Amino acid sequence: MSNNLLTVAYIAASALFILSLGGLSNQESARKGNIYGILGMLIAFVATALSSNVTAYLTLGGMILPGVIIGAIVASRVAMTSMPELVAILHSFVGLAAVLVGIANYLQGGESLTGAEVTIHQLEIYIGVFIAAITFTGSVIAFGKLRAIISSKPLMLPARHLLNLAMLGAVIGLGYQFMTAEGTAGLQPLLIMAAIASVLGIHLVAAIGGADMPVVISMLNSYSGWAAAAAGFMLSNDLLIITGALVGSSGAILSYIMCRAMNRSFFSVILGGFGEGAGTTAKAKGGDQPEGQVTETTVEDTVELLQGAKSVMIVPGYGMAVAQAQHPVSDITKILRNAGINVRFGIHPVAGRLPGHMNVLLAEANVPYDIVLEMDEINEDFPETDVVLVIGANDTVNPSAMEDPSSPIAGMPVLEVWKAGTVVVMKRGMSSGYAGVGNPLFFKENTNMLFGDAKTNVSAILGKLVESSRDSAASSSGKVLATSSAR
Ligand code: NDP
Repeated sequence: MSNNLLTVAYIAASALFILSLGGLSNQESARKGNIYGILGMLIAFVATALSSNVTAYLTLGGMILPGVIIGAIVASRVAMTSMPELVAILHSFVGLAAVLVGIANYLQGGESLTGAEVTIHQLEIYIGVFIAAITFTGSVIAFGKLRAIISSKPLMLPARHLLNLAMLGAVIGLGYQFMTAEGTAGLQPLLIMAAIASVLGIHLVAAIGGADMPVVISMLNSYSGWAAAAAGFMLSNDLLIITGALVGSSGAILSYIMCRAMNRSFFSVILGGFGEGAGTTAKAKGGDQPEGQVTETTVEDTVELLQGAKSVMIVPGYGMAVAQAQHPVSDITKILRNAGINVRFGIHPVAGRLPGHMNVLLAEANVPYDIVLEMDEINEDFPETDVVLVIGANDTVNPSAMEDPSSPIAGMPVLEVWKAGTVVVMKRGMSSGYAGVGNPLFFKENTNMLFGDAKTNVSAILGKLVESSRDSAASSSGKVLATSSAR
């Protein structure tokens, strides 16, 4: 393929990536956005493979084929609830690949470069390997925390900020050695720096508590983008630079959105130490453990409550994803709406385990987009809502975030469901959510607990609603028959 054609293909792929990001920003256009992304990647891949730089087709095929097969199997098998772990481990691959590209690029040498170009090229390599090594090990630790292989408590080493600064100082010192080395003599400082950056990556992510994991995921997403962009500079590949910058900047914006949703400052998150005591297995530190009497309810009573309501708000959380209850939830919504009840969904920005987790599940179950509302759009409507169904959500509806300053999630904006007429909380028991914090909502007077697996209970509610709508249809047709035969 000629260089001109390659440039045209890269421009087309870049445009498709930008269109893809635009599409993904809205649920209605997300499918189209995905298709643009796939097309862009296909063009980028074919054009690169056919470019004059690539000659070793056997090696390329030998690498790509197993990669494609493993990727397809893993992606098709992964459960929606394990998606964050997959994303984290994929980020680590980007990091590792960029580290290897950097080292290989250095060993290859930039023979055609002269003067300032050499300095720039070496800087690209050094900075690229630095970011990539942090991304690699940081993502592995994030994967371990999300999988609960590693404790999600923040690692609070004494003088940890000093330790980070010392590592940064060493990286700068090694950088000087690297830049002034002749030929490939800078390999040693480059490798030592990569090792230090790897330790820094581990330390930075280990210091972040489980409750701040949403930010960590989006932050590593951003780092992986910058690592790819750095690899693009090293390889003089414009498409890689553009794609990396798109991923890097969108990840940074997402991190900012996540921080706002959790009322954290970005720097306090990356410097670590927050979200203490968080994690599925950890016991919450700080914050009073709520006590009191809970009111249990039944499927029948919940159905009655729903049928008597004018407005219903459904608040889904991680438990709905685990139980895969979104389809019966969607059917319940249809029936209630057909009966003239105003049904809406309230979505917390960090509900579930992945940005947009709930939106994806509800879209999959064909819930109309216009009734799926973000926390900011809906929080003021709870006092006018008759019934709230909380389906497998916990931290995102925890009033202690607002009422208890010593709570590990203090300050995080939450869905104020307790302000509604009646709240029905569906979960299996009294255990806490991801942040490991007790939830006073369960003890409130207007809260009823419907214990059990979310899918079982939601399906039972659906069954009763279908039954009663069938009964009422039969009785109204019976009335019609009786009137016509009387005539
Ligand atoms: P939570 O993790 O707070 O709570 C989920 C609840 O679901 C649990 O209390 C559990 O209670 C219940 N549950 C689990 N399985 C079932 C089931 N089969 N049927 C019914 N209930 C079930 O969820 P939220 O969505 O409210 O909050 C998300 C949390 O995850 C936040 O702390 C957030 O910071 C964190 N997080 C979010 C990420 C993101 O990007 N969105 C990424 C990483 C972490 P029980 O065991 O009693 O059933």
